[in-house]
Amino acid sequence: MVPDSIPDFSAETSKFVDELDAAVAAHLDWTRRVLRCAVLRVSPGDDVLGAQSHTECRFGKWFGTKKADFRKLDAAKTERLESVHTTMHDAIRSICTAVLAGRPGQNAELQAFEETQPELIRLLADFKTQFLAGAARHDPLTGLPLRYSIETEFDQVLKNCRRYKTQLYIGIIDADHFKRINDIHGHPAGDKALRHLADTLRGIVRPNEPLFRFGGEEFLLLMQCRSREEAAAAAQRIVDTVRCTPVTIAEIDPLKLTITLGLAKVGKDEPMDGAVARADKALYAGKEAGRDRYVIADD
Ligand code: GH3
Ligand code: MG
Ligand code: MG
Repeated sequence: MVPDSIPDFSAETSKFVDELDAAVAAHLDWTRRVLRCAVLRVSPGDDVLGAQSHTECRFGKWFGTKKADFRKLDAAKTERLESVHTTMHDAIRSICTAVLAGRPGQNAELQAFEETQPELIRLLADFKTQFLAGAARHDPLTGLPLRYSIETEFDQVLKNCRRYKTQLYIGIIDADHFKRINDIHGHPAGDKALRHLADTLRGIVRPNEPLFRFGGEEFLLLMQCRSREEAAAAAQRIVDTVRCTPVTIAEIDPLKLTITLGLAKVGKDEPMDGAVARADKALYAGKEAGRDRYVIADD
């Protein structure tokens, strides 16, 4: 059964951006809160005065659960963000605690606040830009990278293949008779089936084999194999796994999905487009031969 909690990547993207915007607004507002505390001697709020305030503010709580996502974007910048945020909270707590106790705040603490606040805002803005740029390169339906990033990955995988003396195969995967699923069960059911297929594929490919949403109901896979036999075995495993992993949509009986996979080994000095065209031809041959299978193009 496809759970309702299937990640909605477009919703996740806007939530991420909303939280970053809220963090900027909240931490900009600190200037006002500190000023009110200094002038009126009123508490700026418990979220500022607590010893662990950097983990208790809205951003701190959310950041705590999303640190892995931030690290994926930029590990060094994530450490800096954490440190700047903590320093800023410490400085504010110290200043406000002193003021409320009738003592003047320390110059060093005020300076720390003045330095960390703009840096924090800049880091949050940088992450927002980076996150949005990443989101634009990914398919909101399946979360897979879109075809625009294939060329960069292709060059990277090709380098790895040279280094580890493996062969690069391009696989084009096309869902069989997918139009029927839409026609019979409706487009939303088709969307769920596509997400399910993407998840199945994501679960079976090796970590060093990038998978892309190539277009409509087609996916592209960059495979690193030691031999043609190994490529064939991997292709068979993918075809079998999809066939054995049906999707359940609402009240419909489990729906069997099958794919056809066209494979082509990238020749020495062959441009990516050439290998993609040969894989596509192999895919077409697989469709002609009855679908639910793989076909490897001649080298
Ligand atoms: P074949 O086995 O020959 O590939 O048959 P097919 O029906 O899969 O191929 P065809 O190219 O005729 O139709 C592809 C279908 O995939 C039609 C299109 O509406 C559907 N499709 C493509 N992208 C999406 C999508 O994002 N969501 C849904 N629900 N359907 C999609
Ligand atoms: Mg197609
Ligand atoms: Mg198809």
